[in-house]
Amino acid sequence: MPPMPRCVRRSIGLIAVLAATVSIGGSSALAWSNHSLMTWPAVAQMPEIAGRDVRAEPLAEFLMREAQPLEAALEAEERWARSQVSSYPARPDNLRFRRPGAGGGDGDAGIVAAFLQAIRVNRSMPLGLFLQRRPGVAVPPGRLLDWQAVAIRKNLLDDIDGAFERLDRGQMVAAADVVATASNEPDFGLDLGLWQDNGTPEAALYGFGPQPFGNPAIDYSSQAPFHMGFYHESRILYAAAPSLSRCYPEARIHLFLTLARFAFDRGHSYWGWRFAGWAAHYVQDLSQPYHSRALPGVSVARTLWVSLTDMAGWSDARRDAIALVTNRHIVLENYQSRHMAAAFRRSDWADPLLSALADVSGDPSLWRLGPSSVRDAVAGPSADAADALDALLRVSFPDRYVADPAVVLDDTRSLDLERVAAELPAVRRGVLEAAVADRLRQLGRDTRALIRTAVSGDGVPPHEAGVAGVAVKE
Ligand SMILES: [Zn+2]
Repeated sequence: MPPMPRCVRRSIGLIAVLAATVSIGGSSALAWSNHSLMTWPAVAQMPEIAGRDVRAEPLAEFLMREAQPLEAALEAEERWARSQVSSYPARPDNLRFRRPGAGGGDGDAGIVAAFLQAIRVNRSMPLGLFLQRRPGVAVPPGRLLDWQAVAIRKNLLDDIDGAFERLDRGQMVAAADVVATASNEPDFGLDLGLWQDNGTPEAALYGFGPQPFGNPAIDYSSQAPFHMGFYHESRILYAAAPSLSRCYPEARIHLFLTLARFAFDRGHSYWGWRFAGWAAHYVQDLSQPYHSRALPGVSVARTLWVSLTDMAGWSDARRDAIALVTNRHIVLENYQSRHMAAAFRRSDWADPLLSALADVSGDPSLWRLGPSSVRDAVAGPSADAADALDALLRVSFPDRYVADPAVVLDDTRSLDLERVAAELPAVRRGVLEAAVADRLRQLGRDTRALIRTAVSGDGVPPHEAGVAGVAVKE
């Protein structure tokens, strides 16, 4: 392909970057909303999980007991990432995890801080012992935790305040509850403020470089490059916006899978399930088409046209395209979470979305995660489904939600699009449900594949080849 004029590159790149910025800039757009609701039905019947209880263990205790072997495990993980992850920003050597007495921090707080900075996540995350209860299950009296006790986000987490239960050290809890709770935790702030232009204490230390996409000034957007994976864009978009390929969900999945296996191997099942839940989060994000494609519903030709009009000084087309993609992203998430929460409250396990998550008929197609599974088997079908799903949302909901670029859906706490969808004629509602169920069926399959990989000791080889360069479509 001949080199593109720089002004064209800049303009197209701006669109892609802004799309990523705005699509995760609102108060509620998190890919799927409330991952725990999806994890429970996906894993509840797995023989690896069903009926299993584990003993809650504080993070500091786990780290103190396993500091020495953990040092080696994290070093091996870093070597793997440096050799296998495309565009991987190497972890500065001075952040290497060290056991106490070997130059690491002293005491519980010191070892936790040393661990969090070695894996380069936000050091302010509380990471205490807690469960998220499913809708319809009350938290016992006296054990309710405020959402600020589990998260560092600045705004209220969707509709899950009142669902958090404090756990005691040593308390026995169901493995399914641990993994489901943990699968929501990365959206509580684990990846916030890690880029050098984010102005946080971590930003200066971590060596991740400038935020590749998303607006560094918007608090919540800084997690986007860890939770979005644009592996299947057109060549022209990568050429115009190379930063789109600087996204790291695969590195996060591999890291947390490695930690889950390490914890299981060393006899710390609680942390095995919790780390597995963290890894599941990123796999689940990539089954959401607005996280696996930068601009669903906008063709390359349209992107070019919008770029040209933008260069001519008419920025309305660009602003409108971004507003519509953003709103449809939020509409999908709101419909999914409201629909599922209502089904949970009714204990309606035959609901199309809940039953799709539990449907194991497709599991043989991805039994465990292999080296290229995340981009090919997980993000691939999601990217392929993006345009059709975007078009379906367009015709399923009133224009003010999906076709009016003047509307900004930034605070959706009082919005219930499940109720809006309930007004649709039965056939159209069925088509919408089936399309979302299709995405969740894949999410259930992928989540189970990840769990098997975490507990089985095979599947993705922890420190062998696995993550290559960005796949490019002609
Ligand atoms: Zn996420």
